[in-house]
Amino acid sequence: MSTQDLLSKVGQSHEESEFYTPLPDGYTRGKVRYVIVVGTVMSGLGKGIFSSSLAKLLQDKGLKVAPIKMEGYLNIDSGTLNPYRHGEVFVLDDGMECDMDLGTYERLLDQDLSGANFTTNGQILSTVLKKEREGGFLGRDVQVIPHVVGEIKLKLRELAVRSKADVVFVEIGGTVGDYENSFYLEACRQMAFEEGEESVCFVALTYVLEPGALGEQKSKAAQLGIKRLMEMGIMPDIIACRATNPVTEKIRQKISMYTNVPMRRVISMHDVDSIYRIPESLRQGGIDREVLTLLSLHDRVDQAKEDHARSRWQWYADRIGRQKGKVHIALTGKYAALRDAYASVIKAAEHCSVHLGTHVEFSFIETSDVTAANVAEQLKGCHGIIVPGGFGVRGTEGKIECIRYARENKMPYLGLCLGFQMAVIEFARNVCGLTCANSTEFDVNCQNPVIDILPEQKKIEGLGGNMRLGGKDVEIKPGTLAAELYANAATARLRFRHRYEVDPRYIETLEKHGMVFSGKAPKHPIMQILELPRTMHPFFLGTQAHPELTSRPLRPSPMFMGLIKAAIEFAKK
Ligand code: GLN
Repeated sequence: MSTQDLLSKVGQSHEESEFYTPLPDGYTRGKVRYVIVVGTVMSGLGKGIFSSSLAKLLQDKGLKVAPIKMEGYLNIDSGTLNPYRHGEVFVLDDGMECDMDLGTYERLLDQDLSGANFTTNGQILSTVLKKEREGGFLGRDVQVIPHVVGEIKLKLRELAVRSKADVVFVEIGGTVGDYENSFYLEACRQMAFEEGEESVCFVALTYVLEPGALGEQKSKAAQLGIKRLMEMGIMPDIIACRATNPVTEKIRQKISMYTNVPMRRVISMHDVDSIYRIPESLRQGGIDREVLTLLSLHDRVDQAKEDHARSRWQWYADRIGRQKGKVHIALTGKYAALRDAYASVIKAAEHCSVHLGTHVEFSFIETSDVTAANVAEQLKGCHGIIVPGGFGVRGTEGKIECIRYARENKMPYLGLCLGFQMAVIEFARNVCGLTCANSTEFDVNCQNPVIDILPEQKKIEGLGGNMRLGGKDVEIKPGTLAAELYANAATARLRFRHRYEVDPRYIETLEKHGMVFSGKAPKHPIMQILELPRTMHPFFLGTQAHPELTSRPLRPSPMFMGLIKAAIEFAKK
C-alpha cells in the first residue's frame, strides 16, 4: 500500500482499518500546522516560555494560535496538586484547574484558554477506558498503540477544529526519555507522518552546560538528549539551546553537526532579565521566519498587524528594569519558601511595576509567628500588604493580625480569596464586636461563622455544593473604589476557586459598621469584592476572586494597580 493509500485510511472506522486515528468532525488533514516543543537534558528549562514566545511571534503576524500543554501525570487536573511541590494551581475561565504554565501562555498571548488547552495522561487514559466500557472499540483489544496515542492525536485535532487555529503549539511536559511522556512523543511522531510535509515542526529545547570548574560550555549532554529524541523517530527542525551565557558559535556548530539541523536553526536561548524580552530576541534571531518557512506559512502574514503588535509590546519591554524608586509589599503565606506557589501574584505586581515605573519588592511573611505584639515589627518598612489565597488553618490568626494592622494604620491592603475572607473575619471581630467570628473552614463550631460553606448558594449556580471554580461576572456597585478601579464598568470578569463565602446573614451587620460590598454575583447575595470607604482607609480592598490570574502585561489587573499606586503614596509619608 502506498503512503497516500495508508493516509487515506486515517479517520476511517476501526472495523475497516488497522490504522486507528479518529478525526474530529470538520477536520481537514494538512490545513492546520503544529509546532511541537519538547525538552531534553532536564526539565524546568522554560519550554512554556519558549513555546508561548514563539506562538506570540506568529500571533503578532496575524496568525491564529492555540497552545496546549500535555502533562505526564495521572491526575485528571492540577486541582489536587500541592503548590509547594508543583507551583500554583492556575484556574482557567471554564474552571479547569491546570499547570501554572498555562498562565504564561495567557499572559504572553493575552488570550483566554480553556480545558481544551490542557491535558494529562490521567485525562487521556480515563477517556480511553470510558470508551472501552461503552463498547467504543468494537471488540478490539485496547492498546497503548494505536488507541492511547490515537486519543492524544484526537485531542490535538479537536483543539485545532475548536480554536480554528492556523498553528497549534504543543508543549510536551517533562523531558525526552521520561516513560510517562513517551505516549505523547509517539503520538506527535505519528501526527507528523499523517499530517504530511510542512505541517509539523519539532523544536527541541536543550541545555548547554557550563561547569564553573571548566569555565567553558559543553555540548555533550545536549547532544545525548537530542539523540534520545532521534531514537524515537523524531528529527528536530529547530534546536533552542538554553544556557546561562550566550551559546558560542563552536557549540552551535557541534550540535548542528550531530543533529543535521542547520546552524541558522540552532539558536542560543540564554538567560535574560525578563521573559518578556524573549519574543523580540527570538524574532531578531529570525526563528519566526524559519518556522514560517518550515510550515509554509509566509503567505498568511499580515505585516501591518505585526508592526503594530511589536511596537506595543516593545513599549512594555523597554520599560522593564528602568523603574525608579521602590515599594515594599508584604506577602503573607504558608508557602512563603516557594515563590512558584504565588507566581501569578508576583507577575501581576510586576505588570503594575512596569506601568507605574516603580520597583515592587516582596517580603514574604510566615504568619504562624505573627502576633499582636510583633506585627508592627514584622511589617516594618512595608508600604502595602497582600494576603493571598490559601487553604487550611495554619497562620490564619497571624494573617488576621496583619489585616488589623493594615486597617488601623491605613496601610494599603489587598486580600485575595482567603485574604478577602480573613478581612471579613477581622472586621467582624474587631469592628462589629463579634469576637467569636471565624470561618467554618478553621472552626466548625464557631459562634459567628461569618464565612461558611453554603451549598444552597452553589446550587443556584449549579455547582452541586462543591468548589466555585472559573470565570464569573462580578456586578460592581457604582460610586465605589471598585467602580473607580474598573473605570465604572457595570461588571468585571474575574476567576474563582473557593469553597467558602460570606454568610449573607452577616452582611447587614458588616455594612452597618462601614464595610462596603462593592462587588457581588449578579442576582445572588454572593459577596465578591469588599472595601472600606475612603473616609476610613485610603486603600482597603478584598476580593473573593483571584484577579492575579487575569493580569496581563499590557492589561494589568486594576486591583493590583490600585494597591501599588496606594503603596507608592503610602511610601511618600
Ligand atoms: N480556603 C478558602 C475557600 O476554600 C479560600 C480559597 C482560596 O483562597 N483559593 O473558600
